[in-house]
Amino acid sequence: MSTPLIIVSAPSGAGKSSLCDRALSEFSELVDSVSFTTRKPREGEVEGKPYHFVDEEKFLKLKEEGFFVEWAKVHEFHYGTPSHQLEDAWRAGKHLIMDIDVKGAGSLKALYPDSHSIFIKPPSLEELRERLLVRDHGKTQNLEIRLQNAEKELSVANQFDYEVINDDFDRAYSEFRKIIEKIIKGM
Ligand code: 5GP
Repeated sequence: MSTPLIIVSAPSGAGKSSLCDRALSEFSELVDSVSFTTRKPREGEVEGKPYHFVDEEKFLKLKEEGFFVEWAKVHEFHYGTPSHQLEDAWRAGKHLIMDIDVKGAGSLKALYPDSHSIFIKPPSLEELRERLLVRDHGKTQNLEIRLQNAEKELSVANQFDYEVINDDFDRAYSEFRKIIEKIIKGM
């Protein structure tokens, strides 16, 4: 039997990477999913962390070859999850934790109905704008597109199995942690 996937979605800047990173550092039952993307690395990002950075030609070739289990175009860039990561996690008996957009979450949930999906919400769109600007030192790529997408993404939050509001990181993490524990224990 395959170990259920854990799908985590949120508008960009809602803090899902920090929540996933902390859970990954605390639970040895989890394994991180590393997607491929055509966007350029941000400051502090390197090849393989948090993405494999490729150009559009390479991405489309991999897609043609059936390398991705799901892919989506988000904020003008391509993102895709390699299929082998699911198989590797299952072979190791671990839960793959996947930080993907709402379209990818929908495709994966349809393919693997026993997956668990968690939506991370920012307290408000104004707060999200502030966080993006702080994170990117006032130079967020496609800020307005990201905020418009955030509104669309928030409208499908109720289709997820769980919703966590990231108002305060420690409080949100404690809620997130309980959900992860429940999934790991198969409750
Ligand atoms: P960012 O560029 O800010 O890291 O991510 C932008 C969006 O792409 C986020 O919503 C993130 O969850 C999503 N994303 C990252 N990797 C994947 C992937 O492999 N597939 C899909 N569908 N979305 C992804």
